[in-house]
Amino acid sequence: MAVSTTSIVRVGLGYDIHRLTEGRRLILGGVEIPFGRGLLGHSDGDVLLHAVADAMLGAAGLPDIGETFPDTDPAYRNANSRYLLARVVEIVRRQGFHVANADVTVHAEAPNLSAHKQSMTESIARVLGVDRQTVSVKAKSSEGLGPVGAGDAIACTAVVALRARTDDNASSDQ
Ligand code: MG
Repeated sequence: MAVSTTSIVRVGLGYDIHRLTEGRRLILGGVEIPFGRGLLGHSDGDVLLHAVADAMLGAAGLPDIGETFPDTDPAYRNANSRYLLARVVEIVRRQGFHVANADVTVHAEAPNLSAHKQSMTESIARVLGVDRQTVSVKAKSSEGLGPVGAGDAIACTAVVALRARTDDNASSDQ
């Protein structure tokens, strides 16, 4: 007999930072953004999706993405981070959770991300399999301070709430 778990909500925090470098495409939230430089990383360096994935794993009490997708594993070299996040969605789903909402802040001195917030929001919601109203993407500069302010890096902070699936929402889950 199913036990009601309606009241269980778990919150996780994710953070990531990657160095900006010449000769890479800039991918944020699964969206390619026109810019002269991109983020260095074993995968595509998508700090948004990495921070969201870590927040989800943290909420579920699971090992972080560094442990789940080791950078010593050639399978993840230049990996599309949408694929990595989709794997995390599947992992937490198997633990009985689904995403209630995600709140994301990107820290970037340049480029200006205002025009891209909407497409990043839609892209993240698509990978998470949730309504876009449950995803929020905010962008902030660092007022010239630190490595982000100097334009050497882009960072991201994300909070994700997971809700335990009940028979009701499990059957309506796509
Ligand atoms: Mg990362």
